Amino acid sequence: MDSISGQWIAGEHSRQGTQLFNSVDPRVGRSRGMPFANATLDEVALSCAAARQAFRETAGWPAERFAAGLEAIAAGLQHDSQTLIAAADAETGLGPQRLSGEMGRTTGQLRAFAALLREGSYVQAIIDRAQPDRQPAPRPDLRRMRVALGPVAVFAASNFPFAFSVCGGDSASAWAAGCPVVVKAHPGHPETSALTAGVVTRALEEAGFPRGFFSLLQGDSTAVGQALVAHDAIEAVGFTGSLRGGRALFDAAAARSRPIPVYAEMGSVNPVIVLPGALAERMDALAEGLAGSVTLGSGQFCTNPGVVVLLESAEARAFAEKLAERMLARAPGVLLNEAVANGLRDAVARTEGSGLLTGIVRGPAPEGDAFCHPHTLMQTTGAAFVAHPALQQEHFGPVTLLVFCRDAVEREQVVEALHGSLTATVQGLHEEAADAAALFALLREKAGRLIWNGFPTGVEVAGAQVHGGPYPATTAPATTSVGLTAIERFMRPVAWQGVPDALLPPALQNANPLGILRWVDGIYTRESLG
Ligand code: NAP
Repeated sequence: MDSISGQWIAGEHSRQGTQLFNSVDPRVGRSRGMPFANATLDEVALSCAAARQAFRETAGWPAERFAAGLEAIAAGLQHDSQTLIAAADAETGLGPQRLSGEMGRTTGQLRAFAALLREGSYVQAIIDRAQPDRQPAPRPDLRRMRVALGPVAVFAASNFPFAFSVCGGDSASAWAAGCPVVVKAHPGHPETSALTAGVVTRALEEAGFPRGFFSLLQGDSTAVGQALVAHDAIEAVGFTGSLRGGRALFDAAAARSRPIPVYAEMGSVNPVIVLPGALAERMDALAEGLAGSVTLGSGQFCTNPGVVVLLESAEARAFAEKLAERMLARAPGVLLNEAVANGLRDAVARTEGSGLLTGIVRGPAPEGDAFCHPHTLMQTTGAAFVAHPALQQEHFGPVTLLVFCRDAVEREQVVEALHGSLTATVQGLHEEAADAAALFALLREKAGRLIWNGFPTGVEVAGAQVHGGPYPATTAPATTSVGLTAIERFMRPVAWQGVPDALLPPALQNANPLGILRWVDGIYTRESLG
């Protein structure tokens, strides 16, 4: 056996490819001498065919079997967590503390989906019983529920090597829905992906799943992902990453002879609007909180606050100084990989070169070969922000843009001009509630999560969570990629009309053998039907 790693396809190692890439240590900017082979088109096809076969085999399984599979994966991750965290730290530079928190979140969300399946109501059963005597025409018996969509392609993110990667939210929600998953690993952490894939493969095998229920494809070439999305066995795509990548995959899926949905979570600027009362009353706390949020994890969060909107005043200028001071007092951390470092440098250069900034403050250029970027605070005017959409490009890193508005009218124009975002935040006092209400009414059109007196970083995995939003934050604004309702992306409703009880799935049978909550003739109930 050679030292080049390849794919995990339906429970087996496979290594057909000759195009290689390396795992890289971002702290020193050098290869770790650990080569991986890009998946070939043949390997992509094999994994998709195996996924389709696995889908047929598991289609009639009770939710309990999928719940057991999710729990087996969580237990496997927990068992191997030290090894996984060490590999992820070496490949991403995120540090063991952050990574062990992320591991907890990852196992926690797998278990939360298992609990959701056991409760059972997630299939959203609706029953409208027949009314044979209805005039002018009888009503037929109609019963609907949600069923698994089919094999899902998941594109792992660079910035969460566990929680948005091989076993992350997209995979967990697809598996929970009953969908086999083919993961396109992120080339920024191939060793972590391979080790995680080993855990998943063993866990699913022990839980009795068909081997094609999971495959992992490695690659640093868009050809792998393009072939995966184009394969006819794939029914949906989950993606977290850049606007360019997400849009390319969305277009590729739409160009198929049989288009499929793409749930892409992409760039987001996460505006924060600071009202004057809050600024006057808690300037220090705001500067400290915002500096922490902008620089957390080297700013590499999709919820990083990238735009801060203020009314022009002496206090606002003093706040800008304080914020810069607090940001620069923090030492810059390591960025995930060379592409992120280069992308950030280029994005800041473009914004600076636009001639639209009224100021820029940044820390000293970092020394050494680590992938790094100085903490950077940029300033512009409300008028420039409204007139130049380019100022809304994502700066994926420890960078933010202050937008100084002449007055409340210009602030409203700035909010009107905002593109879709994952979050929008208002910082204010209770006395400013009327202003806040007017802003929230506008911001509701722009973002998936509205925050009052908090910061956008930190995304709770919960039933009520929405990690989504209008384009360009996502390609599917009706959904979320975090939280338990993420499962809905990988299910579709089917209605049964006039079908006898014995031919119905248990969730729709009269006796309600699963004891789930159903919407029967317009009323929620767990009762069986006479
Ligand atoms: P990315 O470049 O979009 O890549 C993500 C995944 O998609 C990779 O597996 C990549 O495969 C694949 N891919 C990208 N373009 C493709 C295409 N045209 N066809 C097929 N597959 C394609 O994202 P990234 O590497 O994570 O980070 C780069 C930038 O993404 C960051 O600078 C940041 O702007 C953004 N980002 C945003 C978020 C967020 O949540 N908002 C999170 C992470 C990153 P290959 O590499 O093999 O081509």
